[in-house]
Amino acid sequence: MHFFNYENGELKAEGVRVADLAREYGTPLYVYSAATLRRHFKAYDSAFAGLDHMTCYSVKANSNLSVLRLLAEMGAGMDIVSGGELYRALAAGVDPGRIVYSGVGKRPEEIRAALEAGILMFNVESMQELERIGEIASELGTTARISLRINPDVDPRTHPYISTGMKTNKFGLDMDASLAAYQRAKDLPGVEPVGIDCHIGSQLTSVEPFLEALDKILAFHDKLCDMGINIQYLDLGGGLGITYNEEEPPHPAEFGQALTERLGGLPLRLILEPGRSIAGNAGILVTEVVYTKDTPSKHFVIVDAAMNDLIRPSLYGSYHRIAEVVPAGREDLTVDVVGPICESGDFLARDRALPRVESGELLACFSAGAYGFSMSSNYNTRPRACELLVDGENVTVARRRETYDDLIAAER
Ligand SMILES: *Cc1c(COP(=O)(O)O)cnc(C)c1O
Repeated sequence: MHFFNYENGELKAEGVRVADLAREYGTPLYVYSAATLRRHFKAYDSAFAGLDHMTCYSVKANSNLSVLRLLAEMGAGMDIVSGGELYRALAAGVDPGRIVYSGVGKRPEEIRAALEAGILMFNVESMQELERIGEIASELGTTARISLRINPDVDPRTHPYISTGMKTNKFGLDMDASLAAYQRAKDLPGVEPVGIDCHIGSQLTSVEPFLEALDKILAFHDKLCDMGINIQYLDLGGGLGITYNEEEPPHPAEFGQALTERLGGLPLRLILEPGRSIAGNAGILVTEVVYTKDTPSKHFVIVDAAMNDLIRPSLYGSYHRIAEVVPAGREDLTVDVVGPICESGDFLARDRALPRVESGELLACFSAGAYGFSMSSNYNTRPRACELLVDGENVTVARRRETYDDLIAAER
């Protein structure tokens, strides 16, 4: 997190004082660091320099156009999971030939749009989806490049909601079903199998589960070769974890080396779909203390950011480091940092040691660049936060704060 630093007693985002940003743009406020995004993308991408590969940033982690544009300019492809994300990626100028499309519920109009855009491939997650893509591609007089998403039944040892490669998960096809699906794909007009795909989960803090999955995929690849199906792409998904608190995830270089050892020499182009490891620690959420409230059992710090802005603590019980933007040097208290939403599940931190803060002071919630704004909502009719992209001394309003008019504009 070297681009969010304390200097002269206050937090800066690259060359800009966070307190100044809060004053000018209001709170809650997302602040992203362009230098951090670049550094993370470079670290990830260069970890695979020894392999023929393509890094397709996972749009859902942080889908702001300014972020997508910055990454696309660095050569990133994109992994999308909806027609909306396709629309965004194209609007950001991403080369369609570098877009892969994952997800269990692709609707016909979404499939059609992706075919018309000429994306690189679909990661297909069911037999019915395979048939549907074949039908639509045939109607359009084209052929859809596809991978089947294999569910390798590997435990990624992460939160159950973000484990995706176990046999009880809705994602992908098991090994046997996948073989049948490749067989079908081989004969089906309108589709051409070009790859194998898997994505076993998110916030993985060790390379072991990736390697376990890879071994299964490579064994599966041998079977495909035996069936006379020659593919070109091996998509291993995303999922590399980041440090929120005390996790010690592998550095991308370690991950890259482990994969390079196993994949070097294979005539396959590797696709990676990192999201969190690029954007997570490139963003903070800045919030102002509205009130403090002491009860016989708790000290509450009531802030103006809530679960609609950052749902991870409420949804997964996740930890986000929270610190004062301008440390006042008061003694620590054990507090709950809560938002204004009418749910007891609305908190950013529970039983957290934090210096005593006062109304009007600013807090920064770190590691909020991925699955922060992109999971935000308007619950309690709260306008979504402003997003800023800081690059050195330059500040871009990547998304202006929503207005009350925005909130009712689509209603009657
Ligand atoms: C969410 C997702 C990713 C990105 O996962 P991260 O943990 O953010 O790296 C990649 N691929 C697919 C299919 C996903 O659903």
